[in-house]
Amino acid sequence: MTDTLKIAQADLLCTNCAGQCAYDPQTGTLSCQSCGTAHEIAHDPNLNPAQEQHYHPDMPHTEQPKFSTDRHFQCETCGGDVVFQGHSIAARCAYCNGVLVEQAANESYAILGMIPFQVDAKDALKYARSWIARRWAAPSDLTATVAGCDVTGIYVPFWTFDSEEAVTYMVTYETKSGDRTVTRTQLGTMDTFFDDMLMPASPHVTPLIRDGILHEFNPSHLRPYEPAYLAGFAAERHHQTVREGLQHNESDKALLLRNRIKQHSGKSGIVDVSYKTDTTGIRYRRILLPVWILHYEYAGKPMKVVTCGLRGRTFGERPFSTPKLFAIAALISSGVIAFGFTWGALNIY
Ligand SMILES: [Zn+2]
Ligand SMILES: [Zn+2]
Repeated sequence: MTDTLKIAQADLLCTNCAGQCAYDPQTGTLSCQSCGTAHEIAHDPNLNPAQEQHYHPDMPHTEQPKFSTDRHFQCETCGGDVVFQGHSIAARCAYCNGVLVEQAANESYAILGMIPFQVDAKDALKYARSWIARRWAAPSDLTATVAGCDVTGIYVPFWTFDSEEAVTYMVTYETKSGDRTVTRTQLGTMDTFFDDMLMPASPHVTPLIRDGILHEFNPSHLRPYEPAYLAGFAAERHHQTVREGLQHNESDKALLLRNRIKQHSGKSGIVDVSYKTDTTGIRYRRILLPVWILHYEYAGKPMKVVTCGLRGRTFGERPFSTPKLFAIAALISSGVIAFGFTWGALNIY
């Protein structure tokens, strides 16, 4: 056990029977797995988890300790060795199934807020299976393949970023002059801002997971970080410093800025956009959000179905059945031919 790390374990035991507890999304309480007692999760009423932090470019950027190595802890319940790998901050003891949550290790690294699971494992599994069952042109054995798989709940790390942008731009556009195409440019300035851009802080968060969460994320639902919400789930800390997170966010921001510039210029036929922006008022939140993941394998290829732990939106990866795709392609082309005949017939008259 290293001296910079603390673990929450004893506080997560049942005060009634000393049994192991886990967070229950249905009741929002820490529920004892032995005697069923539901323990309320208390918050410091002075904390505002939706509060954003100001970012200063000259801050030290040392808030992210390197956790590439495994950390060993002794289980307080049974004495077993529990290993936290990489960026993991929650684990179960392999010997007694006890829940261990790593505490904030470093003064400057703190998870500022989180939204606990609202969807439980039973519903998540139901959503994942029904998503699979509704796929068109899927192999006939796909539902059976997924039937034996279970879902895993994990809290994944995200940033939210705000900023104000003073943009100077030049758009190049083409217009028709008679039968000639003329290229023109227009200069402009625009003030715009970004509010709560959601950015993954882990390489394990694929665009699929991010886009799925995006639709269900509401900052007003954030709560203060509490180890009790992690009890029984996997969880990962942020892989980047705030500065690195902002760098990752640049390409998303650039894409949105280009679209806003095109709109602002009021021009059509735009072939090029160049701009400079003066970014101020950067604010951020370091948060955790819940997802359920069902891993399965089809024809040797690993795939996953993801259910957002906020409201249950489900999305994922799936195989296609080649014969079924051919059959659908044949239907579509015969449809086109039939339409062509009708069109031709109408034109005769
Ligand atoms: Zn109990
Ligand atoms: Zn143990």
